[in-house]
Amino acid sequence: MTLPKHAYFQGKIVSYAEAKVGIATHALHYGTAVFGGLRGYWNDEEKRLFVFRPLDHYRRFLHSSRIMCMQFEHTPESLSKLTCELLRQDGYQEDVYIRPLAYKADEIIGVRLHDLTDEITIYAIPFGQYVKNDTNAHVTVSSWRRIDDNMIPARGKISGAYANSALIKTDATRAGFDEALVLTQEGHLSEGSAMNIFMLRDGILVTPPATENILEGITRRSTMELARQELGLTVVERPIDRTEIYICDELFFTGTAAQITAITKVDHRPIGKGEMGPVTGQLRAIFNDVVRGRNPKYLDWLQTV
Ligand code: PMP
Repeated sequence: MTLPKHAYFQGKIVSYAEAKVGIATHALHYGTAVFGGLRGYWNDEEKRLFVFRPLDHYRRFLHSSRIMCMQFEHTPESLSKLTCELLRQDGYQEDVYIRPLAYKADEIIGVRLHDLTDEITIYAIPFGQYVKNDTNAHVTVSSWRRIDDNMIPARGKISGAYANSALIKTDATRAGFDEALVLTQEGHLSEGSAMNIFMLRDGILVTPPATENILEGITRRSTMELARQELGLTVVERPIDRTEIYICDELFFTGTAAQITAITKVDHRPIGKGEMGPVTGQLRAIFNDVVRGRNPKYLDWLQTV
Protein backbone atom coordinates (compact mmCIF):
# COMPACT_ATOMS: atom_id res chain seq x y z
CA MET A 1 0.00 0.00 0.00
CA THR A 2 1.21 3.51 -0.84
CA LEU A 3 1.68 5.52 2.33
CA PRO A 4 -0.50 8.61 2.77
CA LYS A 5 1.19 11.97 2.07
CA HIS A 6 -0.50 13.90 4.87
CA ALA A 7 -2.76 13.30 7.83
CA TYR A 8 -5.06 15.38 9.95
CA PHE A 9 -3.58 14.70 13.38
CA GLN A 10 -3.98 16.39 16.77
CA GLY A 11 -5.88 19.29 15.26
CA LYS A 12 -3.79 20.08 12.19
CA ILE A 13 -2.68 18.73 8.84
CA VAL A 14 0.86 17.35 9.06
CA SER A 15 3.10 15.14 6.92
CA TYR A 16 2.24 11.47 7.40
CA ALA A 17 5.62 10.79 9.05
CA GLU A 18 4.72 13.20 11.86
CA ALA A 19 1.40 11.52 12.63
CA LYS A 20 2.52 8.92 15.20
CA VAL A 21 1.00 7.44 18.37
CA GLY A 22 2.72 5.62 21.23
CA ILE A 23 2.52 1.85 21.67
CA ALA A 24 0.59 2.26 24.93
CA THR A 25 -2.30 4.02 23.17
CA HIS A 26 -5.63 2.76 24.56
CA ALA A 27 -7.27 2.16 21.15
CA LEU A 28 -4.39 -0.04 19.98
CA HIS A 29 -4.91 -2.44 22.89
CA TYR A 30 -8.66 -2.47 23.37
CA GLY A 31 -10.03 -1.60 19.92
CA THR A 32 -11.58 1.54 21.43
CA ALA A 33 -11.81 3.46 18.19
CA VAL A 34 -14.36 3.97 15.44
CA PHE A 35 -13.68 4.63 11.81
CA GLY A 36 -15.17 5.64 8.52
CA GLY A 37 -14.33 4.93 4.91
CA LEU A 38 -15.12 7.33 2.09
CA ARG A 39 -14.19 7.41 -1.54
CA GLY A 40 -13.08 10.29 -3.69
CA TYR A 41 -13.69 9.78 -7.42
CA TRP A 42 -11.52 11.47 -10.02
CA ASN A 43 -13.39 12.82 -13.05
CA ASP A 44 -10.74 13.06 -15.73
CA GLU A 45 -12.83 15.08 -18.23
CA GLU A 46 -13.55 17.77 -15.64
CA LYS A 47 -10.20 17.32 -13.82
CA ARG A 48 -12.07 17.27 -10.52
CA LEU A 49 -12.17 15.04 -7.48
CA PHE A 50 -15.62 14.30 -6.03
CA VAL A 51 -16.07 12.95 -2.49
CA PHE A 52 -19.13 10.69 -2.27
CA ARG A 53 -21.70 11.62 0.40
CA PRO A 54 -19.23 13.00 2.98
CA LEU A 55 -21.97 14.46 5.20
CA ASP A 56 -23.72 11.08 5.46
CA HIS A 57 -20.41 9.33 6.18
CA TYR A 58 -19.45 11.84 8.87
CA ARG A 59 -22.92 11.74 10.42
CA ARG A 60 -22.51 7.97 10.84
CA PHE A 61 -18.94 8.45 12.05
CA LEU A 62 -20.05 10.84 14.80
CA HIS A 63 -22.91 8.49 15.74
CA SER A 64 -20.38 5.65 16.03
CA SER A 65 -18.21 7.82 18.26
CA ARG A 66 -21.21 8.52 20.52
CA ILE A 67 -21.79 4.80 21.00
CA MET A 68 -18.20 4.66 22.29
CA CYS A 69 -18.75 7.61 24.68
CA MET A 70 -16.61 10.01 22.67
CA GLN A 71 -17.22 13.74 22.58
CA PHE A 72 -16.19 16.07 19.80
CA GLU A 73 -16.89 19.64 18.83
CA HIS A 74 -16.85 18.55 15.18
CA THR A 75 -19.91 18.43 12.94
CA PRO A 76 -20.36 16.48 9.68
CA GLU A 77 -19.83 19.82 7.89
CA SER A 78 -16.57 20.64 9.70
CA LEU A 79 -15.17 17.15 9.09
CA SER A 80 -16.15 17.30 5.43
CA LYS A 81 -14.40 20.67 5.10
CA LEU A 82 -11.28 19.29 6.80
CA THR A 83 -11.28 16.34 4.41
CA CYS A 84 -11.36 18.67 1.41
CA GLU A 85 -8.46 20.67 2.83
CA LEU A 86 -6.48 17.47 3.33
CA LEU A 87 -7.24 16.29 -0.22
CA ARG A 88 -6.23 19.65 -1.65
CA GLN A 89 -2.86 19.37 0.09
CA ASP A 90 -2.45 15.76 -1.08
CA GLY A 91 -3.27 16.82 -4.65
CA TYR A 92 -4.25 13.34 -5.88
CA GLN A 93 -5.54 13.20 -9.46
CA GLU A 94 -6.93 9.67 -9.19
CA ASP A 95 -9.51 7.74 -7.17
CA VAL A 96 -8.82 7.82 -3.43
CA TYR A 97 -9.98 6.20 -0.24
CA ILE A 98 -10.38 8.42 2.82
CA ARG A 99 -10.04 6.96 6.31
CA PRO A 100 -11.20 8.96 9.35
CA LEU A 101 -10.52 7.39 12.75
CA ALA A 102 -11.71 8.54 16.18
CA TYR A 103 -9.77 6.90 18.97
CA LYS A 104 -9.13 6.79 22.69
CA ALA A 105 -5.72 8.41 22.69
CA ASP A 106 -4.52 8.03 26.29
CA GLU A 107 -1.41 5.93 26.89
CA ILE A 108 -2.85 4.09 29.82
CA ILE A 109 -3.84 0.63 31.12
CA GLY A 110 -7.51 0.05 31.96
CA VAL A 111 -10.49 -1.25 30.00
CA ARG A 112 -13.20 1.42 29.91
CA LEU A 113 -14.69 4.13 27.75
CA HIS A 114 -15.12 6.98 30.22
CA ASP A 115 -12.58 9.55 31.44
CA LEU A 116 -10.35 9.19 28.41
CA THR A 117 -9.10 11.58 25.73
CA ASP A 118 -10.71 11.36 22.29
CA GLU A 119 -8.80 12.25 19.14
CA ILE A 120 -9.65 12.27 15.44
CA THR A 121 -7.25 11.55 12.60
CA ILE A 122 -7.92 11.44 8.83
CA TYR A 123 -5.79 10.37 5.89
CA ALA A 124 -6.30 9.52 2.22
CA ILE A 125 -4.55 7.12 -0.17
CA PRO A 126 -4.90 6.29 -3.87
CA PHE A 127 -7.36 3.41 -4.17
CA GLY A 128 -8.83 1.34 -7.00
CA GLN A 129 -10.78 -1.91 -6.99
CA TYR A 130 -11.22 -3.72 -3.63
CA VAL A 131 -12.86 -7.05 -4.54
CA LYS A 132 -10.77 -8.56 -7.33
CA ASN A 133 -13.61 -10.31 -9.18
CA ASP A 134 -16.21 -7.59 -8.84
CA THR A 135 -18.30 -8.83 -11.77
CA ASN A 136 -18.20 -12.52 -10.83
CA ALA A 137 -17.35 -13.00 -7.17
CA HIS A 138 -17.46 -16.50 -5.69
CA VAL A 139 -18.35 -16.31 -2.01
CA THR A 140 -18.84 -18.76 0.83
CA VAL A 141 -21.16 -18.72 3.82
CA SER A 142 -18.80 -18.09 6.73
CA SER A 143 -18.69 -20.47 9.68
CA TRP A 144 -18.23 -17.36 11.84
CA ARG A 145 -21.35 -15.54 13.02
CA ARG A 146 -21.91 -11.79 12.90
CA ILE A 147 -21.39 -9.93 16.16
CA ASP A 148 -24.69 -9.01 17.81
CA ASP A 149 -25.89 -5.51 18.72
CA ASN A 150 -25.66 -6.45 22.41
CA MET A 151 -22.07 -7.69 22.04
CA ILE A 152 -20.39 -5.05 19.91
CA PRO A 153 -22.88 -3.05 17.85
CA ALA A 154 -22.22 -3.59 14.13
CA ARG A 155 -23.89 -0.25 13.37
CA GLY A 156 -21.06 1.46 15.24
CA LYS A 157 -18.14 0.76 12.85
CA ILE A 158 -16.07 0.08 15.95
CA SER A 159 -12.44 -0.88 15.35
CA GLY A 160 -12.46 -3.80 17.82
CA ALA A 161 -15.45 -5.32 16.03
CA TYR A 162 -13.41 -5.69 12.86
CA ALA A 163 -11.61 -8.68 14.40
CA ASN A 164 -14.89 -10.45 13.48
CA SER A 165 -14.63 -9.18 9.89
CA ALA A 166 -10.94 -10.15 9.70
CA LEU A 167 -11.65 -13.74 10.85
CA ILE A 168 -14.42 -13.98 8.23
CA LYS A 169 -12.29 -12.55 5.41
CA THR A 170 -9.12 -14.55 6.05
CA ASP A 171 -10.85 -17.92 6.32
CA ALA A 172 -12.83 -17.21 3.14
CA THR A 173 -9.75 -16.07 1.22
CA ARG A 174 -7.61 -19.00 2.38
CA ALA A 175 -10.37 -21.39 1.31
CA GLY A 176 -10.15 -19.86 -2.18
CA PHE A 177 -13.23 -17.61 -2.13
CA ASP A 178 -13.38 -13.90 -2.96
CA GLU A 179 -15.51 -12.96 0.04
CA ALA A 180 -17.96 -14.39 2.56
CA LEU A 181 -21.55 -13.97 3.65
CA VAL A 182 -22.10 -13.87 7.39
CA LEU A 183 -25.16 -15.10 9.25
CA THR A 184 -26.69 -13.66 12.39
CA GLN A 185 -27.04 -15.77 15.55
CA GLU A 186 -30.54 -16.67 14.26
CA GLY A 187 -29.12 -17.86 10.94
CA HIS A 188 -30.35 -15.00 8.76
CA LEU A 189 -28.16 -13.30 6.21
CA SER A 190 -26.46 -10.26 7.70
CA GLU A 191 -23.78 -8.92 5.32
CA GLY A 192 -20.27 -9.54 3.99
CA SER A 193 -17.02 -8.94 5.90
CA ALA A 194 -17.21 -5.21 5.11
CA MET A 195 -20.13 -4.81 2.70
CA ASN A 196 -23.91 -5.02 2.63
CA ILE A 197 -25.86 -7.61 0.66
CA PHE A 198 -28.78 -7.41 -1.79
CA MET A 199 -30.75 -10.20 -3.43
CA LEU A 200 -33.10 -9.96 -6.42
CA ARG A 201 -35.90 -12.47 -6.03
CA ASP A 202 -38.98 -12.55 -8.29
CA GLY A 203 -38.23 -9.02 -9.50
CA ILE A 204 -38.05 -7.54 -5.98
CA LEU A 205 -34.80 -6.23 -4.55
CA VAL A 206 -34.37 -7.42 -0.96
CA THR A 207 -31.79 -6.42 1.66
CA PRO A 208 -31.61 -7.25 5.38
CA PRO A 209 -32.99 -4.51 7.67
CA ALA A 210 -30.90 -2.43 10.09
CA THR A 211 -31.82 -4.85 12.91
CA GLU A 212 -29.89 -7.78 11.34
CA ASN A 213 -26.55 -6.63 12.79
CA ILE A 214 -25.47 -4.85 9.65
CA LEU A 215 -23.52 -1.67 9.26
CA GLU A 216 -26.02 0.87 7.94
CA GLY A 217 -24.15 1.38 4.69
CA ILE A 218 -24.18 4.61 2.73
CA THR A 219 -23.77 2.65 -0.52
CA ARG A 220 -26.67 0.42 0.58
CA ARG A 221 -28.89 3.45 1.08
CA SER A 222 -27.76 4.98 -2.23
CA THR A 223 -28.38 1.71 -4.09
CA MET A 224 -31.90 1.43 -2.66
CA GLU A 225 -32.66 4.94 -3.88
CA LEU A 226 -31.11 4.39 -7.33
CA ALA A 227 -32.98 1.08 -7.76
CA ARG A 228 -36.29 2.77 -6.94
CA GLN A 229 -35.73 6.03 -8.81
CA GLU A 230 -33.79 4.89 -11.86
CA LEU A 231 -35.02 1.31 -12.38
CA GLY A 232 -38.50 1.60 -10.82
CA LEU A 233 -37.82 -1.47 -8.69
CA THR A 234 -39.60 -2.38 -5.48
CA VAL A 235 -36.99 -2.52 -2.70
CA VAL A 236 -37.82 -4.32 0.53
CA GLU A 237 -35.91 -4.55 3.82
CA ARG A 238 -36.66 -7.91 5.44
CA PRO A 239 -34.77 -10.84 6.97
CA ILE A 240 -33.28 -13.21 4.37
CA ASP A 241 -32.93 -16.96 4.99
CA ARG A 242 -29.73 -18.66 3.91
CA THR A 243 -31.42 -20.94 1.38
CA GLU A 244 -33.19 -18.04 -0.35
CA ILE A 245 -29.89 -17.09 -1.94
CA TYR A 246 -29.62 -20.54 -3.52
CA ILE A 247 -32.79 -19.85 -5.52
CA CYS A 248 -32.59 -16.07 -6.04
CA ASP A 249 -31.97 -14.48 -9.46
CA GLU A 250 -29.19 -12.03 -8.59
CA LEU A 251 -27.00 -11.30 -5.61
CA PHE A 252 -24.58 -8.43 -5.04
CA PHE A 253 -22.58 -6.61 -2.38
CA THR A 254 -22.55 -2.85 -1.82
CA GLY A 255 -19.94 -0.84 0.05
CA THR A 256 -17.57 2.07 -0.26
CA ALA A 257 -14.65 -0.27 -0.95
CA ALA A 258 -16.64 -3.01 -2.76
CA GLN A 259 -18.85 -0.49 -4.65
CA ILE A 260 -21.38 -2.80 -6.37
CA THR A 261 -19.86 -6.27 -6.60
CA ALA A 262 -21.75 -8.99 -8.48
CA ILE A 263 -21.83 -12.39 -6.74
CA THR A 264 -22.22 -15.20 -9.26
CA LYS A 265 -21.53 -18.27 -7.09
CA VAL A 266 -22.10 -19.15 -3.44
CA ASP A 267 -20.30 -22.26 -2.18
CA HIS A 268 -20.01 -23.57 -5.76
CA ARG A 269 -23.72 -23.08 -6.43
CA PRO A 270 -24.43 -20.72 -9.34
CA ILE A 271 -26.60 -17.67 -8.61
CA GLY A 272 -29.25 -17.33 -11.34
CA LYS A 273 -27.49 -18.17 -14.61
CA GLY A 274 -24.08 -18.12 -12.91
CA GLU A 275 -23.12 -14.77 -14.42
CA MET A 276 -23.72 -11.12 -13.52
CA GLY A 277 -27.45 -10.38 -13.91
CA PRO A 278 -28.98 -7.40 -15.77
CA VAL A 279 -30.16 -5.50 -12.67
CA THR A 280 -26.71 -5.71 -11.06
CA GLY A 281 -25.11 -4.59 -14.33
CA GLN A 282 -27.46 -1.63 -14.69
CA LEU A 283 -26.99 -0.56 -11.08
CA ARG A 284 -23.21 -0.71 -11.48
CA ALA A 285 -23.36 1.55 -14.54
CA ILE A 286 -25.75 4.03 -12.89
CA PHE A 287 -23.65 4.10 -9.70
CA ASN A 288 -20.44 4.68 -11.63
CA ASP A 289 -21.95 7.71 -13.41
CA VAL A 290 -23.40 9.12 -10.19
CA VAL A 291 -20.15 8.95 -8.19
CA ARG A 292 -18.14 10.63 -10.96
CA GLY A 293 -20.54 13.54 -11.22
CA ARG A 294 -21.99 12.49 -14.60
CA ASN A 295 -25.61 12.37 -13.45
CA PRO A 296 -26.93 15.87 -12.67
CA LYS A 297 -29.80 14.44 -10.58
CA TYR A 298 -27.44 13.28 -7.85
CA LEU A 299 -24.86 16.08 -7.75
CA ASP A 300 -25.97 16.90 -4.20
CA TRP A 301 -24.44 13.57 -3.12
CA LEU A 302 -21.00 14.87 -4.14
CA GLN A 303 -18.59 17.30 -2.56
CA THR A 304 -16.12 18.84 -5.00
CA VAL A 305 -12.60 19.13 -3.59
N1 PMP B 1 -20.72 -3.44 6.31
C1 PMP B 1 -19.54 -3.34 6.95
C2 PMP B 1 -19.24 -4.25 8.09
C3 PMP B 1 -18.60 -2.39 6.51
O1 PMP B 1 -17.41 -2.28 7.13
C4 PMP B 1 -18.91 -1.56 5.40
C5 PMP B 1 -17.90 -0.59 4.88
N2 PMP B 1 -17.99 0.66 5.49
C6 PMP B 1 -20.17 -1.70 4.80
C7 PMP B 1 -21.05 -2.65 5.28
C8 PMP B 1 -20.60 -0.80 3.69
O2 PMP B 1 -20.90 0.49 4.16
P1 PMP B 1 -20.68 1.78 3.26
O3 PMP B 1 -21.52 1.58 2.04
O4 PMP B 1 -21.16 2.91 4.08
O5 PMP B 1 -19.24 1.84 2.94
